Amino acid sequence: MHVFKFGGASISDVHRMQQVGHIIREHAPKPTLVIISAMGKTTNALEKVAEAFFAGQKEEALQQFEVIKQNHLAIATELMATTSSGNVPADSLRDIFTEVEWLLHDKPVREYDYYYDQIVCIGELLSTIIMQHYFQHSGLNAAWVDVRDILRTNDHFREAGIDWTYTRDQVNAQLKPLLHQHDIVVTQGFIGSTDENESTTLGREGSDYTAAVFANLLDAERQTIWKDVEGVMNADPRQFASAQYIQELNYTEVIEMAFYGAQVIHHKTIKPLQNKSIPLHVRCFLQPELPGTIIHNHAVKNLPPIIVRKANQVLLQLDSIDFSFVEEKLVPQLHGWMQEFRLSPNLFQHSAIRIYVCLDQKDDKLEKLALAASSTAEVTVQKGLTLLTIRHYNEALIAELTVGYEIVLQQKTPETIQLLLNEK
Ligand code: ADP
Ligand code: ASP
Ligand code: MG
Repeated sequence: MHVFKFGGASISDVHRMQQVGHIIREHAPKPTLVIISAMGKTTNALEKVAEAFFAGQKEEALQQFEVIKQNHLAIATELMATTSSGNVPADSLRDIFTEVEWLLHDKPVREYDYYYDQIVCIGELLSTIIMQHYFQHSGLNAAWVDVRDILRTNDHFREAGIDWTYTRDQVNAQLKPLLHQHDIVVTQGFIGSTDENESTTLGREGSDYTAAVFANLLDAERQTIWKDVEGVMNADPRQFASAQYIQELNYTEVIEMAFYGAQVIHHKTIKPLQNKSIPLHVRCFLQPELPGTIIHNHAVKNLPPIIVRKANQVLLQLDSIDFSFVEEKLVPQLHGWMQEFRLSPNLFQHSAIRIYVCLDQKDDKLEKLALAASSTAEVTVQKGLTLLTIRHYNEALIAELTVGYEIVLQQKTPETIQLLLNEK
């Protein structure tokens, strides 16, 4: 049993969709579960629809949605024209469009995150309907599953947590039989459903994680994620032209990279794989003949420095008002608030009466946190910072990467240095 995951970039146009078909024919063992994200930048476009709807701009939301709709119909038509049947799954696509259009005609009465998930989730439904239909009409024995019937989550909209017990039962009852009957089963990454049948999402870029959840529950031999890069590199090649490809990594290295913000793999992906010793293979859909990067349990020596740069960081400084030690009260309180507002610190440091915490800039949540903390601490906020993390660092590299920046905060262990930077 294998799990393949294809991201938005791999199905951003008809040519790439055909390439995905080719990869499945040539490289997918039987059976393979194929997890697919939304096409290209569809999720961003659907986010705009959700924002307009929630802001009460119904016409704007409908208009933007119409563009997404026409785009999907046009791509499906163009893709299916490359097959002998030419038949487009128009009815199935229209059923999904109608779900959203109904919603858009209503007025929002619940919280934004709920509507976000009901609207944004369709990107994956549409792309998988198109891809499965294409596979089926190009000679592959492919089934389609609505993952919302299998992957159960809680109702933490936009960042839903998985109900492993229910999901495991559905994998056994529904998914395994389908995988016995078909060479491939296609389903959606990133989305799930609550016990009230409300759609949920697992957090942006969450399809890698979905694939890992299924790899774990299916005891897969391997998970392969197909990207537009040669494999995992020691830095984001969009930021560092000299980024080097790495052939082999272990789980620890990658979970640390992802945690500090490396965008190549979703940070929750590693745990389900590590727990069952399932190797993760990162391969290039543009050049499937390349070896890619293999990520597993084995120790890997002589790694180059690994660089992760995360922008839009905020530093909160909390000073104890009455000189009580922060360790006694404010530190546990702060962790409680961060949990409550679903914020996770990227860097945390404290002295006797001061705490520094670096977080992603999520303004609404940060405001709630600052307000809660202001009852017991003096709160100072600094925005627009960049968090630079270097594993296996050396002094020359630190000097090179911090030119033009003031170091606001730093934390160092023998293997990792983190520098919070402010542009001079
Ligand atoms: P997907 O289509 O699966 O969602 P993404 O576009 O999210 O893929 O991720 C692939 C991109 O991640 C690459 O194009 C690359 O620019 C970026 N990236 C960031 N950090 C790294 C890294 N360390 N190694 C490889 N790619 C990286
Ligand atoms: N389509 C979602 C996103 O763009 C999930 C994913 O691509 O993994 O965030
Ligand atoms: Mg992505």
